[in-house]
Parts: sequence; C-alpha cells; structure tokens
Amino acid sequence: MKAHDGMYIDGAWRPAAGRDTIAVVNPVDEQVIAEVPAGTVEDVDAAVRAARAALPAWAATAPAERAARIAALRDVLVARKDEIAESVTAELGAPLPFSQAVHAGVPILVAGSYAELAASYAFEEKVGNSTVYAEPVGVVGAITPWNYPLHQIVAKVAPALAAGCTVVLKPAEDTPLTAQLFAEAVHEAGVPAGVFNLVTGLGPVAGQALAEHEGVDLVSFTGSTAVGRRIGATAGAAVKRVALELGGKSANVILPSADLAKAVAVGVANVMGNSGQTCSAWTRMLVHTSQYDEAVALAAEAAAKYGDRIGPLVNAKQHARVRGYIEQGVAQGARLVAGGLEAPREQGYFVSPTVFADVTPEMTIAQEEIFGPVVSLIRYEDEDDALRIANGTVYGLAGAVWAGDEAEAVAFARRMDTGQVDINGGRFNPLAPFGGYKQSGVGRELGSHGLAEYLQTKSLQF
Ligand code: NAP
Ligand code: MG
Repeated sequence: MKAHDGMYIDGAWRPAAGRDTIAVVNPVDEQVIAEVPAGTVEDVDAAVRAARAALPAWAATAPAERAARIAALRDVLVARKDEIAESVTAELGAPLPFSQAVHAGVPILVAGSYAELAASYAFEEKVGNSTVYAEPVGVVGAITPWNYPLHQIVAKVAPALAAGCTVVLKPAEDTPLTAQLFAEAVHEAGVPAGVFNLVTGLGPVAGQALAEHEGVDLVSFTGSTAVGRRIGATAGAAVKRVALELGGKSANVILPSADLAKAVAVGVANVMGNSGQTCSAWTRMLVHTSQYDEAVALAAEAAAKYGDRIGPLVNAKQHARVRGYIEQGVAQGARLVAGGLEAPREQGYFVSPTVFADVTPEMTIAQEEIFGPVVSLIRYEDEDDALRIANGTVYGLAGAVWAGDEAEAVAFARRMDTGQVDINGGRFNPLAPFGGYKQSGVGRELGSHGLAEYLQTKSLQF
C-alpha cells in the first residue's frame, strides 16, 4: 500500500521529527503492508502551531466559503471512494463490499451534510436586545479509533471546519493509511494550509501530547473508556472543552408483539457487521421468556449463515481480548449456540460469529464491551424487567426496540437511558445526534448538534 513518510502539516507533507515508524498490518493475512512515521511531541507541537496560525483567517472566512470547501472535500471523497474502500479493507480487514457501502459511503454522506449545514446554520441570532454569535471554539485536537477509520475522522473534522475551527488529527495507529488518504483529499479540496493537520503516531505519545497541548482549545476523542477518562481529566484540569465518545453495551429489546424473526435477524446482523467492532452495536438481545427458545434458535441460525462472510478483528490484541471474553462467558455458565473459540481460518485475526444463550444480566459478557462478533441473548419476564436489564450497565450509547405497534416501542424507548434508539429497524440518519448517556460519553456528533460542539457563543447587548 502507498504511504506517506511524513506528516501533513501547514498544507504540505513534511519530514517527521523522529525516526520511529509504525508498521501497518493487514489483519486478514498478518502481513506488514506499509509503514508510517510515529509522531513525537515535536510533530504535535508543529501541527498545533500551524493550526493556531491558520485559525484567525479560517474563523473569519464566510460560512458559505467554508461550506464550499467542505462540498469540494465531499466531491474528492466521492471521486476516490474505491481507493478509500481498498485502504480500509487493507488495514482494518473489512470485506470490500462493506468497506464500499459503509466505510466509504457513510463519510461521504456526513461530509455532504456538513457542506449543507455550514451554509444554512444560524451563526447569528437575535435574542431580545442582544445579538448572539456562534463563534468557533478554536484549535481542535481530534483523536480517533480504528473501527470506522474514515467515518470517525469526518464526524469530527467536517463539523469543526464548518464551525470555523482548525484541526490537528491523531488517528489510530492501526489505520493511518486511510487518515493519510483523507489528508490528501483535504489538500485536493483546496482547504487552506494549516486548517487541517495530520500527525500519525502512538496514543500514549502523539495522542497524549495533543490532548495535553496548551494550544488546543477542544479535544474530541473517540475510543476506550480508560483513555477517555484520562483525556477528560486532563481537559478538566486545563479548563478545556472536551467531547468523548466511549462505546457501549446496547440493548436490542424485542417486545412480545414484535415480528420476532425480523428482529432477531436484523439484531444479529447489527452485531456481526464490521466484525462486532461497532460502539453502538446491540450486543445484548433481550427476549421475553415465552419466545426465548425460538429466538435462540433463530439467532444461532442467523449467525451460522454469516459463516465466512465476516472479516477479521483489527489486530492480535483485540483478537486475544475477544477470545478471552468468549472463554469467560463459557466459564460463567452461558451456553454457546453458535461460533465460539474454534478459528474459522488458520491465518488472520478471525473470530466466528458467536451467539450466547442463557446469559444473565450480571455476567461479564453482558456488562463489558466485547468489541467482537458476539451477541448475548438475555431473557426477561415483563416490560419492567426488560427496562431494568436494558438500563443495567454503565453505558448508554444506542439500542433498539421492536414491537407490533410503533407507539408501544416509542413508549419503551423513552424510558431507556441511552442516546439513540432504532424503532423497528429504523434507518441510519446522518443528521441524528449520536452520543452517549452515562459512561458512553460526553457530547454529540453528527448533524447540527455535532456542529454545536465546535461553537461557543458571544452575545452583544444593544
Ligand atoms: P484506545 O486506545 O482508546 O484508542 C483510541 C484512540 O486513542 C487511538 O487513536 C489511540 O492511539 C489513542 N490513545 C491511546 N492512548 C492514548 C493516550 N494516553 N492519550 C491520548 N490518546 C490515546 O482504544 P483501543 O486500544 O484501540 O481499543 C480498546 C477498546 O476500546 C476496544 O476493545 C473497545 O472496547 C474500545 N473502543 C471503542 C471505540 C468506540 O468507537 N467508542 C473505538 C475503538 C475502541 P493508538 O491507536 O496508538 O492506541
Ligand atoms: Mg490503544
């Protein structure tokens, strides 16, 4: 794979300050496909300085012109969508059709939505005898994970640019090639030098330097709770804005009146997509006791049908981690009805689509984020019981409710402590605010709520 051996800073690819590199591995065959530079404190500092220098002019650029640049960026992503899909497939391992439809397709939608929002958003508002201006927060430090490599970049960079902020991005060490492609796209789109900057590198080095840098006004992080907690603490100590998107343990609640076969099939597919590496995946399927055995049979069948259409996990560490959770599930008394520890292939970080039955709400596999193709079926006695189980984790990112009657599903969803709920298989909406209740995070991404994260208000009284 093609890779840059420098950092994209101030509108050009510049040599890295240090000599260390990161090997990029294809998780399908465990081969090294490229190397990228491992950024240091110096690289981060150079990038933040470039972003600061570019801030006044970009913040003063008319929203219509910012919108035009984001629209141009969207057009470059469209023109290069095959390359994007191939890059994500090479470094994440996602099957190519999924990379094309989701990993390339969704960022195009999101970039397009921000091109429109930048042009239409009310950056100025009259409130009584005041005029309230929505102004950019400033320099954004964006730290992204590998599971949706381009989506998570675009979900931060597009609204930041729309708001008039400038950005330094530290992408995940596992998926830097897609981030480099994005930097090329920003350049091609004619975004002014310094407005977007890329520093590849390791989390505890480049990521931490970015989160701690005093020239950064807002840190937007997506990833693990452990790292998010630290970033939140660092930002708090510096009285700096922070947005955290930290994963979940979402419930798929199937009420007795629902179309059971459809709810189970969509629910299993929701977990298996991207090999279960989706923070909003509905990894707990809640089924009424009267339908439980039927749901288990349907889920096992759906998972078995998935077979070898599933991609690998991103790396050896995640592979070992997910297998560890499967071992724990068995040890704690859950019943494997599909998949398990047997490897579907000899090479690569693959885990079979796995279904656990007889899972109780307290088990580790029902409480912790597994981040692999593992779904747990939990039985409930009545609606209150279902609600207690659904709300009974530290997370609250997403969820689903299925019922014969939409109003019944909505009534249940309104009682869930979670940020997004799909009703009877509702479709993805790139304008809907995405983010967590409880320990799933702070702040929202996407749509106008996502844009507001990058704005601060100033009011003038007359
Ligand atoms: P992670 O370490 O939190 O990675 C997320 C991002 O933060 C990466 O860019 C990472 O860099 C960076 N980072 C790591 N340590 C940092 C530090 N001390 N300061 C600043 N930035 C730092 O997550 P992970 O290790 O890749 O995955 C572990 C678990 O996190 C998964 O099993 C899953 O449960 C959860 N996760 C959640 C999401 C989500 O969408 N919410 C996404 C991915 C993972 P490196 O790439 O160099 O580590
Ligand atoms: Mg990590």
